[in-house]
Amino acid sequence: MLFAMMDFKAKLVSVKELTHDVRMYMFERPAGFSFKPGQFVMLQVEEVARAYSIASSPLELENFVLIVKLIEGGRGSEYLRAAKAQDEISFKGPFGHFYLDEDSERDVVLIGTGTGLAPLYSILQYLLESGSEREIKLFFGVRHEEDVFLREEFEDLSQKHENFSFKIILSRPKSGEKGYVTDLIKEENIENSEAYICGGKAMVDDVKEFFTQKGISPEHIKHEVY
Ligand SMILES: Cc1cc2nc3c(=O)[nH]c(=O)nc-3n(C[C@H](O)[C@H](O)[C@H](O)COP(=O)(O)OP(=O)(O)OC[C@H]3O[C@@H](n4cnc5c(N)ncnc54)[C@H](O)[C@@H]3O)c2cc1C
Repeated sequence: MLFAMMDFKAKLVSVKELTHDVRMYMFERPAGFSFKPGQFVMLQVEEVARAYSIASSPLELENFVLIVKLIEGGRGSEYLRAAKAQDEISFKGPFGHFYLDEDSERDVVLIGTGTGLAPLYSILQYLLESGSEREIKLFFGVRHEEDVFLREEFEDLSQKHENFSFKIILSRPKSGEKGYVTDLIKEENIENSEAYICGGKAMVDDVKEFFTQKGISPEHIKHEVY
């Protein structure tokens, strides 16, 4: 069953710079706000609304987290760039059909580029915190070395949990290995898996196509396009 979508207000607790243009916003989780790992909220920015995926696990009851790329001149971006701890924001949610299938026992393959990582991070944390024994692989693509975020967190989680591994790939590195997330998954055995894909349309289409060609049925290929 889906949770009822509602209007909420939430106080901003902290802002953390993850990269030169990506920030992590932690909000107090208002009473009655429930969501599934992978879903998003609509943040009210003056008279417009912007969609942001929740990056934290629903098991985290005190707070919830957004990971946002700040785009120069963007309505939502400039609103969040100016936001300070203790500010109150208005949002609606939760929304979306891109969320973890908890009843499945298939391996979980998480594929994201840029801030498309946000809902995957929610799914990942939820699975690990709830003691899932499903095999979880994360593939994270960004352009440059300085665009990578949460690497230490993933390293830490992969050391603590045998069923979790991850790979990061850069499409335009100054030096070293270069490629796309699609290159990474081609090397994997994905027969018994389900895919959660999030990022730009071209990447999502390519990865969807790959899983489809490998015989994975559509209900096991979930995606969100930013
Ligand atoms: C379901 C869903 C979930 C989303 N979750 C997240 C999330 O977790 N984190 C996140 O950072 N974003 C997320 N987005 C994208 C987000 O909703 C906004 O589109 C994005 O933040 C830009 O909004 P803005 O108001 O700052 O810019 P706008 O005012 O909408 O646009 C400003 C300018 O930037 C350009 N622009 C818009 N998007 C991009 C882009 N991605 N890269 C470069 N230029 C762009 C526009 O063409 C325009 O010229 C999500 C989108 C969807 C649909």
